[in-house]
Amino acid sequence: MRFHKSESAFFVFMALILGAGLLTVYAYGIILAPGELFYVPDGFETFTYVAKLMFGSGVLLATALFFGVFLIYPLIRTQAREEHKLREMTESLSARSETLEQAALTDGLTGMQNRRYFDDALREYLDEFRRVDKPVGLMILDLDHFKQVNDTHGHDVGDRVLREVAGCLRDMTRFHDVVARLGGEEFAIVAPNMSDEPLIKLAERIRKAISMLTVTTSSNVRLKVTTSIGLAVWDGKEMADEFFRRADKQLYQAKRMGRNRVCA
Ligand code: GH3
Ligand code: MG
Ligand code: MG
Repeated sequence: MRFHKSESAFFVFMALILGAGLLTVYAYGIILAPGELFYVPDGFETFTYVAKLMFGSGVLLATALFFGVFLIYPLIRTQAREEHKLREMTESLSARSETLEQAALTDGLTGMQNRRYFDDALREYLDEFRRVDKPVGLMILDLDHFKQVNDTHGHDVGDRVLREVAGCLRDMTRFHDVVARLGGEEFAIVAPNMSDEPLIKLAERIRKAISMLTVTTSSNVRLKVTTSIGLAVWDGKEMADEFFRRADKQLYQAKRMGRNRVCA
C-alpha cells in the first residue's frame, strides 16, 4: 500500500505527539513514585532526569508543531485548491456537454425539438404507454406550397414563417406534448393520452390558427400560409416507424385531396 504525502506526514505527526505523550507520562510517573514503577538510570538525580524527559517531550512537540505548520497544513491547502479547481473544471465540462446535448436535440431555426429528439421521444412514449394501455396521438404537418413562399419572397421570409408556425404550435399544445420540426417545412406533434376525436379537434384548431397567421414582408405584403395535417392514433402494438408511416400516409392523402385539411 502506498501512502499519500499528506498521510505520511500525518503519521509522523502522530508519532511525534505519541512520543511526547509517553515521555510526559513517564516523567509524571517518576515525580509521583520515583524508583518504583518508573526507572531512573544510575547517575541521574530524579529532578534532572524528569527535566530531561520534559525537555525531550518539548522537543518532540515543537517538531510536531513544525511538521503541522510547514508540511501538513500546506499539503492540505494544496489539496483543497486542487480539488476546488477540479470541481470547477468538471462543473464547466458538464455544463458544456449539457449545452452540446441540448444543441444536438434542438432545431436551430425555431428552437423546437428536432428530428432526433422526436424519434427518441416517440419511441420512449410508446414504450411507456404500452404498459398503461392509453392512447397516443400523432400529428404530422407540412406547410402547403412553401417552396413558392421562398421563391416569391425569399428565404428569410420563409424562415420567419417557419418561426411563426413553430410559435403557434407551441402555444396550442400541452406541456407534455412533443412538438418538433422534422426538417424543412414539416412538423410533428406527439400527443400522449389523446384519442381520435380530441386529436382531430386539436388538429383542426391548429390548421385554422396557422391559416390565420400573417407575416408582413418588407414590401408590405401580408403573407399567409396553410398546412396539411395527417393524423394517427397508436393501435397499442405497432412500432414507432410503422405508426409514423401511418400518419404520414394521411398527410399525403391530405395533400392529394387539395391541401389545407386534416386527414385521419
Ligand atoms: P407541398 O404543398 O406539396 O408540401 O409543397 P411545398 O412547396 O411545401 O413542398 P416542397 O417539398 O416542394 O418544398 C419544400 C420547400 O421548403 C423547399 C425549400 O425551399 C423549403 N425549405 C426547406 N427548409 C427550409 C428552411 O429551413 N427555410 C426556408 N426558408 N425554407 C425551407
Ligand atoms: Mg410542403
Ligand atoms: Mg415537405
